[in-house]
Amino acid sequence: MIEFKNVSKVYPNGVQALSDIDLTIDDGEFVAIIGRSGAGKSTLIRTINKMHNISSGTLTVNGHDVSALSGKDLRAFRRNIGMIFQSFNLVERTTAMNNVLSAFVPDMSPLNAMIGNFPEAMKLKALESLDSVDILEKAYTRADQLSGGQKQRVALARTLATNPSIILADEPVASLDPITAKQVMDYFKKVNNDGITILLNIHHVELALEYATRVLGIQNGRIVYDGPANKVNGDV
Ligand code: ADP
Repeated sequence: MIEFKNVSKVYPNGVQALSDIDLTIDDGEFVAIIGRSGAGKSTLIRTINKMHNISSGTLTVNGHDVSALSGKDLRAFRRNIGMIFQSFNLVERTTAMNNVLSAFVPDMSPLNAMIGNFPEAMKLKALESLDSVDILEKAYTRADQLSGGQKQRVALARTLATNPSIILADEPVASLDPITAKQVMDYFKKVNNDGITILLNIHHVELALEYATRVLGIQNGRIVYDGPANKVNGDV
């Protein structure tokens, strides 16, 4: 469960990106965050795995007070929370498999991942993760040889390798053409059907409405809509 209580975020330059956020997301939800550029969507997502610190309030994720996490505890916490980026964030000059294996050793560059050094169980899990997003046949293809949609599926496999309970995604389909975007969203749906909570930012409102069961509208760092996708109106 993710619980924001009166959370605000002010960046060091003085920009207030989040104001008084109160929000509870239950396990297994599929939530899309919509709103204009600069509204605070990305900041909201990135506080959850502590890529950004909150400035005030309380943020509790899976029972952990996020502000209190550091070091080994923070690393363990992050293994349970997948993160997907618009630009995929793969290491391009190595294979899909090495990118996925790197999930097990976050401090190591995938370029240095020697498949032979990984225990059999990790290799199996990596292959299983690739298979679950139907990209197993590209396991030994370099990331820079893959299409955008394939890269995002490899990135999804990389998060799945560590059995996350939550996957955060910051504009995961913004760089994909409309057909590929839907294909990738179908995999988010599949992963959500397996019980993983999905929280993603998306500027394609139609896709948010089609895939999410709950939509958050953000404006100027505040939640201005929180409800089912089928009730969203043009004001959000
Ligand atoms: P969105 O994802 O909705 O486009 P962001 O969360 O990226 O919005 O940004 C919210 C506000 O915070 C914007 O005014 C943006 O310029 C500002 N902002 C974002 N990241 C930083 C940062 N690292 N330092 C300072 N200001 C930032």
